[in-house]
Amino acid sequence: MSDKDDAETMRGRLRSERVNSLFSEDELIEDYYDQPAANDSSCWNDYGLSTLQSSGTVSRSISMHSGSTEGLDASAQLLPIIKAGWLDKNPPQGSYIYQKRWVKLDADYLRYFDSEKDTYSKRFIPVTSIVRVASIGDQKFEVITNNRTFAFRAESDADRNEWMRTLQQMVDERKFKGLNRISLFQPPTSALDSVDKCGLLELRGFKNKLYVVVAGDKVFLYKNAEDYRQGIGITYIEMNVGNVKDVDRRGFDLTTPYRIFSFSADSDQEKDEWVEAMQQSITEALSNSEVAERIWLVEANRFCADCGSPKPDWASINLCVVICKRCAGEHRGLGPSITKVRSLKMDRKVWTEELIELFCQVGNCVANQFWAANVPPSEAIHVASGSQERRRFLIAKYKEGKYRRYHPLFGNQEELNKALCATVTTSDLAETQSLVFCGAEVSCFSGDPDFPNPIALAEQAGQKLQMEFLLHNKNSEIPQVEAGSSEEKHYSVILPSVTHNGFLHKTPSMAKLVHERKSREEFSRRWCTLNDSIFSYYENDRNAVPNGEIKMEEIVCLVNNPPDTHGFESTFEVYIESERLYLFGLDNPEAIRKWVKSIAKSFIHPRADELLSYDFERIGRLQYKGGLNLERAKEGWFALAQSVLYAFFEDSDKEEAVHLKKLQELSIQGDSLVLVERRRTLYIQGERKLDFLGWVAAIQKAAGSSGDTLSEQQLTESDIPVIVDRCIDYITQCGLTSEGIYRKSGQNSKTTSLLEMLRKDARRVRLKEGEHHVDDVSNTLKRFFRDLGDGLFTKEFCQDWLKAAAVENEEEKVSQYRHLLSSLPVVNRATVKALINHLYRVQYFSEMNQMNTHNLAIVFGPTLFQTDGKDYKAGRVVEDLISRYVVIFSVDEQEMRKQQDEIQAIIKMRIAGSSSGTQQAGDFICTVYLEEKKTEAEQHIKIPATMTAEELTFEILDRRKIETKEKEYWSCFEVNEREEAERPLHYSEKVLPILHGLGTDSYLVVKKQLSMENMLIYLASRVSDSKHGMMKFREERNVLGLGLSTGFHDRYFILNNSCLRLYKEVRSLKQRIPAVETSHRPEKEWPVKNLKVYLGIKKKLRPPSCWGFTVFYENEKHEKQQWYLCCDTQMELREWFASFLYVQNGGNVWPSESSKVRASRTQQDSRLGNISLIPLRGNENEMRNSVAAFAADPLTLLRNV
Ligand SMILES: [Zn+2]
Repeated sequence: MSDKDDAETMRGRLRSERVNSLFSEDELIEDYYDQPAANDSSCWNDYGLSTLQSSGTVSRSISMHSGSTEGLDASAQLLPIIKAGWLDKNPPQGSYIYQKRWVKLDADYLRYFDSEKDTYSKRFIPVTSIVRVASIGDQKFEVITNNRTFAFRAESDADRNEWMRTLQQMVDERKFKGLNRISLFQPPTSALDSVDKCGLLELRGFKNKLYVVVAGDKVFLYKNAEDYRQGIGITYIEMNVGNVKDVDRRGFDLTTPYRIFSFSADSDQEKDEWVEAMQQSITEALSNSEVAERIWLVEANRFCADCGSPKPDWASINLCVVICKRCAGEHRGLGPSITKVRSLKMDRKVWTEELIELFCQVGNCVANQFWAANVPPSEAIHVASGSQERRRFLIAKYKEGKYRRYHPLFGNQEELNKALCATVTTSDLAETQSLVFCGAEVSCFSGDPDFPNPIALAEQAGQKLQMEFLLHNKNSEIPQVEAGSSEEKHYSVILPSVTHNGFLHKTPSMAKLVHERKSREEFSRRWCTLNDSIFSYYENDRNAVPNGEIKMEEIVCLVNNPPDTHGFESTFEVYIESERLYLFGLDNPEAIRKWVKSIAKSFIHPRADELLSYDFERIGRLQYKGGLNLERAKEGWFALAQSVLYAFFEDSDKEEAVHLKKLQELSIQGDSLVLVERRRTLYIQGERKLDFLGWVAAIQKAAGSSGDTLSEQQLTESDIPVIVDRCIDYITQCGLTSEGIYRKSGQNSKTTSLLEMLRKDARRVRLKEGEHHVDDVSNTLKRFFRDLGDGLFTKEFCQDWLKAAAVENEEEKVSQYRHLLSSLPVVNRATVKALINHLYRVQYFSEMNQMNTHNLAIVFGPTLFQTDGKDYKAGRVVEDLISRYVVIFSVDEQEMRKQQDEIQAIIKMRIAGSSSGTQQAGDFICTVYLEEKKTEAEQHIKIPATMTAEELTFEILDRRKIETKEKEYWSCFEVNEREEAERPLHYSEKVLPILHGLGTDSYLVVKKQLSMENMLIYLASRVSDSKHGMMKFREERNVLGLGLSTGFHDRYFILNNSCLRLYKEVRSLKQRIPAVETSHRPEKEWPVKNLKVYLGIKKKLRPPSCWGFTVFYENEKHEKQQWYLCCDTQMELREWFASFLYVQNGGNVWPSESSKVRASRTQQDSRLGNISLIPLRGNENEMRNSVAAFAADPLTLLRNV
């Protein structure tokens, strides 16, 4: 029987009873369905289980599940059902009849079905979108989401209560895990990244189009796009049982053992895309289960190593345990230095042969023999354990190592290390595990310089699994029983005992920041004492029992308010760990000062007591990250005084200062406040909300401009106001050749609003060509100087400058100017120099812009001296400064040359940019990643026009204090996410033009170029300069919107030092080589200089091997082509790529002197980078990790939309 016949027979039988099988609640049938009887083809194909088992179409899927009916329900088994049962679903609008529904709850979704046999739900509600569950009487309850409410009726009150209890518990657990907390900090909506394709499709049986989403290994159906955004869908299809079949021009079927979904797209091209996306999804689903199936072959791996749940599909890859989803969530909370959680199904890339093999050999059995050697039954967890129980157990098991089997050498570091070096050369993985987690150092020195550490030893001995295990545990934290949370650590510090007492006025404690002024009436007078690290307050000084007390170690922050913030002249705030704040006041500033000092002294860690010497407005402890170790957040002590943030970092004894006005960037990312300085990035983390918000506001305020003099502005590293720097930079990039620059006045209203914006927060303003006119920007700069309090030359010295202009003797005049310059405050001096330097450049282009020195002086004299223009001497000063710029400012030749280079580069870029239209200008701070794209690896770098890829690479390595070793080829890569391809920049390539050309799907990353060594060897050893051979070739035709791509085909290629040629007739060619180049006309030919070659081909194109290139071609007429080349082996790919590099760079592929360049840089910069960068994290781990993991999880979009 053919599929079609099969379908026909089924239709008649099933139509009446099953036709509404998929549709859902609020649900007017007519909205969703055509009249079923009217048109046969519109009927819903709904297959029963038995029919399909005999059907040929799905036999593949069925055989995968060993044919049992249980097995068929594989999709449902992947997530254990927590509760299921019959409930009455609230009737749709306008109806009074309750509908009986089979309702299932798992860790992710609440779903309901027509019957318990159905596979595809009528509705799914992600647990994450449930806000709460409420009882509404008569055995009824409501499930409330942000946008909608679903009402159910149970058979009895007891049943109703049971449902409510279970649901509420699930919701609470999610909340407890912090997943719902992110609303405070605007969660990134990166979840959408995991969608492979989405859009509207007709589904046979439905009147309206459905919104269909292909994400990872599932296809989701939604009523419409709005529902998709809200996360509330109809059903989802697990693609491991799916099969996609072309039907006709626009139609295709998605067949599963339970049902055929007949889709129809808008066009045949659309259809092809959908078919491709769904096929990809099937491939993903199948290969995904492959890893799991293989690992489950070992009996012990079929149950969660921690709680015993069946079919665990997560793993900790460093601990080598297979775990269930719920345990995985708790593992994440422990942080990656303890356990690295990956999915067996979704994180395909990590599952190398070695890792799978390691899991088969170690896995739950060997791991638990060590980790769970002594678990008291009372502490063990099981399938039904709650979240907190699990967490407690996992901390004890892996973080504290409480149940582990101690190695006999435990405590003897040297012996442990020796034993590890010996063991890794054998196949005894259990012993290695025991040694490593009892303290042996994975990176210890072996004593043999050739194989200096256990990893090298294992490699030498050919012990690949040992290597794999060691690599994953290179940075693992060793269990420590005494390692507690940061709070516990805190209690162990002995704080100095300070005694102080007196009357204070106090408000009740608060859970919110105090924004409004508190009047005197809101305070009550209390007798307060500070004694033995406890602050107590009493009704009056005769009472013996305090009204309340604050332990010093609970205090996280102390704030000294500015005078008259509240009804009392002086006030201070105390923040404690449990997110409360206390406000105290007095009319006696001196007494308050004493209280603040006393309290500060008694809660600040003695190590950080230097902070007490500042006239701080805020002091306390915070979690931070930075430095080389971004994995773990540390505790630091911070004090904010004016615009400087002083800090004592965890592993440093000396204090560091962050000049907030000089920050390159200040932003909130996720739950962190990110402070970017030239040489480091500091992440301050919101461990608690209340004091963190206070710090954020205070730091933001201190980092902003505080007045109208120069030194009160936000400053650059070189002490120039950011406002000036931004404008000068912009004019340099876009206005040097603009006629009448600085003379033309621009639009008044635009100037006013731009200046206002810059004054508010110059750092955040990005001037862009097209958005900002050069004349508006130049006018803004002039107005800033004209309105400057105290002026650029200061009121004090202003007249002296004017007098100097009248001096006739040239030498005398220059010397006076130089003297006056040195008398200026630092910021003024730096600004004068920057401005004159800029004007010097402007006059350099006077032939084009008509602004020679004299003209500039006429404009700037009155502006800088804030005169009405009647005193000619003001213009004279400016003219003198520009024309004698080199002498007065002692500019040396090198500096001069650098400037010329920069100007040339800018002009060149403008010429290039003006034609392609991609030019932007302003302040080129760009984000570059180290090794991979993730927040912790972000570096913000200002890119001058002259910077090369090599310089950028070194800058990043220096910032992160990474030492390069011989034969490590660190390079900057341009990564194109859309094309899934990347290109290592040539070391001499200028970064800025590349940056301008980057699309939104692209970014720069600095990492090692692993194949460089082999490429250099190949280049050194090859005989001829040209390269030829077969490659698989595919053209990108979709660019033109024409037809289908044609797949990959064999072509013969020849690359010589000027062009790449493609030949179609392989056979005739092969015989003629090497004479071919002259005798045969190539089918295609491209000049090499117009090619951009990227490594990698997007998976969607199904390249025949993973050794491919994506090539972009653009000729002088800006005609573009894109095509793909694929090699059979990695070696071939390497050779071709090396040849491209060789040809494109005139044989100069890698710098011979690079290490020396770096060495000299490092020395020169060592005075700057004294503190390590500070990566951060801490208790918020949990949230951060969960969020990160969920972002990698394709289902997130459905949970959090
Ligand atoms: Zn478990």
